[in-house]
Amino acid sequence: AQSNGNPAEPFIKIPNIKFTKLFINGQFVDSVSGKTFETIDPRTEEVITRIAEGGKEDVDLAVKAARDAFDSGSWPRLPGCERRRIMLKFADLIEENTEELAALDAIDGGKLFHFAKTTDIPSAADTFRYYAGAADKIHGETLKMSRELQAYTLREPIGVVGHITPWNFPAQMFSAKVGPSLAAGCTMVVKPAEQTCLSALFYAHLSKLAGIPDGVINVIAGYGHTAGAAISSHMDIDKVSFTGSTAVGRLIMQAAAMSNLKPVSLELGGKSPVLIFEDADVDKAVDLALLGTLFNKASEFSSFGFNHVYIKYFLAFWPNSKLLNFLTFFQGEICVAGSRVFVQEGIYEEFVKKLAEGVKSWVVGDPFDPDVRQGPQVDKKQYERVLSYIEHGKREGATLLAGGKPCDRKGYYIEPTIFADVRDDMIIAKEEIFGPVMSVFKFKTMDEAIKRANATEYGLAAGIVTNDLNIANTVSRSIRAGVVWINCYFAFDRDLPYGGYKLSGFGRDFGMDALDKYLQVKAVATPIHNSPW
Ligand code: NAD
Repeated sequence: AQSNGNPAEPFIKIPNIKFTKLFINGQFVDSVSGKTFETIDPRTEEVITRIAEGGKEDVDLAVKAARDAFDSGSWPRLPGCERRRIMLKFADLIEENTEELAALDAIDGGKLFHFAKTTDIPSAADTFRYYAGAADKIHGETLKMSRELQAYTLREPIGVVGHITPWNFPAQMFSAKVGPSLAAGCTMVVKPAEQTCLSALFYAHLSKLAGIPDGVINVIAGYGHTAGAAISSHMDIDKVSFTGSTAVGRLIMQAAAMSNLKPVSLELGGKSPVLIFEDADVDKAVDLALLGTLFNKASEFSSFGFNHVYIKYFLAFWPNSKLLNFLTFFQGEICVAGSRVFVQEGIYEEFVKKLAEGVKSWVVGDPFDPDVRQGPQVDKKQYERVLSYIEHGKREGATLLAGGKPCDRKGYYIEPTIFADVRDDMIIAKEEIFGPVMSVFKFKTMDEAIKRANATEYGLAAGIVTNDLNIANTVSRSIRAGVVWINCYFAFDRDLPYGGYKLSGFGRDFGMDALDKYLQVKAVATPIHNSPW
């Protein structure tokens, strides 16, 4: 076992890394080129291990395995109830290995270990269970045709799917993509983010133990411009489901258009607004604002949402409800971060004062420490990017309320940072920072707040804090975003479809809507002679 990086605080024994090769056709194999790449522990900036680096040739092999598996019918033609049984087994195996999977995401991606253990991994297992329940309930419709025709629709699996995922939620991303596509009967090639491949390879191993036939799930570790691009431009992949940045989303769509016109779904970036009206309880609003911005490696986040997993977590680790504190932080590495907090003028001064107080209790440190609310940023590149945005904020004249610099310790740690009096034209108000940085704005009227909240290229999520039903109803219908949370934030559930408007992309993960991405509708018609209808 490796050390935690800080022998003085041995929070947990870190497992030996077992899987570092590509997973193709049910086997762990070296890459064709023999190349490997380093994966770094963001807590210590040290190399954890080397992983086989997949490229175009490896993607070709994985696609062939997936195509053969699809054509053989070993998965798509299995009765739905059999697919369900195997997926439930897969979910159980994930749950049995929760601790190890959580530790992998903590050392590889800086995720808070306790949060991953109590929320990310169990909720990934539950996502597989949710879609397992759908596997034998996928059916078309009987259509009312003209007198001479009888017709019906079939909903068939789309074929071989390429999944390309980011590093911020490795467990959720894997389950949200693989779950519905398995239920639909697809076979697939998964390319996890290069920063967080270790858990994806572990899931591959578990999928085999669960009895998922060889070739159905293939996992190619590697970089975006090589392995990722080979997937998006592949002539024999039928669909790409991508989550990541808007810039890469554009490349994926271009590559799909220029190759075989495969459909794509894109879950992209965001710059989500949270609108706090002056009838709100300021203390609760402060908590919610912090929670919504800093979330991801800060732990307490989601009890504000009513997802039972998160509530469980909340009760276990954050008994006195301080936890609302993380709307913006949690390392901020979350695409729905409520990074633009609009506060109505009547409570603005009080809100800002309490926010500055509230953030003081925000503990930044080793993600294995149960007291820590915010871990390191995922890698050096993100760390430097976030710090450069903080410098922009200072230069542009926003009021620095808290933080504003790296933490004084080894690793990619940044102080939770809050800017007040932010103007809409500042860079920190417009661009996705993807770090623990919150911007606070003042507004006067509801109409003004709606207009300013919508004045963004993105449209992923929004929050509304008010006790006034008219305001809640009007604002929720006026905001152009894929999800709107009223008096909560990050209230995720696997039944809640999740995705963007505008530059935040299109297509939905989670919920039954996600199944549609992996199904084709086929119409079948046949003449009926002498029909009385
Ligand atoms: P990224 O776009 O750089 O990388 C995402 C994935 O795309 C990685 O697997 C990467 O290897 C791959 N990739 C990179 N270049 C590629 C190319 N040319 N062709 C094909 N694949 C390529 O994003 P990131 O920095 O890893 O993640 C952060 C971004 O993801 C943020 O913008 C965030 O908002 C977004 N995100 C969105 C959601 C959502 O559901 N909307 C969820 C999580 C993250």
